[in-house]
Amino acid sequence: MLSDRVQRIGFSSTLRIAAKAAQMVKEGADVIDFSIGEPDFPTPSNIKDAAKRAIDANLTKYPPNDGVLELRQAICRKFKAECDATYTPDQVLVSTGAKQSLYNAALALINKGEEVLIPAPYWVSYPQIVNLAYGNPVIVPTREENGFRVTTEDLLRHISSRTKAIIICNPSNPSGSAYPAAELQKIVDLCMAEGIFIISDEIYEKLVYDDFHYVSLASLGDKVRENSLVINGFSKSYSMTGWRLGYAVGPKEVIEGMSKIQSHSTSGANSIAQWAAVEALNGPQGEITMMRDEFERRRNYVLTRLAQIPHCTCYKPEGAFYVYPNFSWYYHKSHDGVEIRNSAGLAYYLLMHAHVAVVPGDSFGTDEFTRISYATSIENIEKGMNRIEAALAGLGG
Ligand code: PMP
Ligand code: GLU
Repeated sequence: MLSDRVQRIGFSSTLRIAAKAAQMVKEGADVIDFSIGEPDFPTPSNIKDAAKRAIDANLTKYPPNDGVLELRQAICRKFKAECDATYTPDQVLVSTGAKQSLYNAALALINKGEEVLIPAPYWVSYPQIVNLAYGNPVIVPTREENGFRVTTEDLLRHISSRTKAIIICNPSNPSGSAYPAAELQKIVDLCMAEGIFIISDEIYEKLVYDDFHYVSLASLGDKVRENSLVINGFSKSYSMTGWRLGYAVGPKEVIEGMSKIQSHSTSGANSIAQWAAVEALNGPQGEITMMRDEFERRRNYVLTRLAQIPHCTCYKPEGAFYVYPNFSWYYHKSHDGVEIRNSAGLAYYLLMHAHVAVVPGDSFGTDEFTRISYATSIENIEKGMNRIEAALAGLGG
């Protein structure tokens, strides 16, 4: 009965694990949830107040398909101020989450059988979104020693005559790794030389640590802007996951194509959320800095704890709110006669025996690793790490 399309994909593993953890909590289990990538902070109050004002002003009708002009203008101003990049409002499409922006992009750009390069570890939905568009995801492995960043040599081994695009996640979900300017430039130069369109997912751009100098693709010149889309959103930086608002900026032709697709699916994103987002971009940014500082403190703490776990390595991430330890030494160890064979087995063991929810690395194309989201309180992180440490020790660590 089901279409070929739906049989090309599985359900989002991040959402599935988070739902399982939430269900266990509802049933009374004391589960520490390190699974979902969702800030634990409330949305800043100036943003909530703007939404309330929008409701009272009856800004509750269908918004324009591409997004309210004030929001698209605010997005253009952001790129001018931060990247010295000139985009006009007709180069912006506001959508129901960055996930929809990515989906619109894939449908607007990819023909059947065209290849999209996806460095691994990748965010769960990239290959599936490409599959839904009947494109072929081409997974490009990276190395932990390189900070999980793809190199031009890695890419050259996977480029073919069918390569249409690449999806770069910077900073990365799940590894937290971010590209220093020179490394990003090399990749971009190669893509421009090879005619590869770049989709740059920058949803974690505001969450970088240790004075890391973040470079957006939008700041790399006109040619790059004409051959790329920058995807961003409000979920992570502004703690607005439930408002469902993201956007894409890029060449007018591509944005128009994406706009047509959106006009026949969801049409304009939630009006109230869009007015709140105008305030998010134009209003004070103090709470954003406060959240960033707190994430940095948590990252440092979780790294200290991981360093104490025997046989575990972990890259020190520049950004996002994930760490991506390698726990593969613990595979092929047994508990109660049951062998842990892979990252899914380890995540199952941690959930059932330690009551800690994590996401197995196989969801991100790298089975040796496990994703821990530290978007939760230091108290929870401490408790969860105590449990992980004890559970791994129980496997012989
Ligand atoms: N890209 C990445 C890398 C993400 O982690 C997320 C989080 N779900 C998204 C896109 C989608 O974000 P949203 O749809 O909430 O804007
Ligand atoms: N991006 C988040 C994560 O990776 C949210 C879940 C999702 O949208 O898949 O956990």
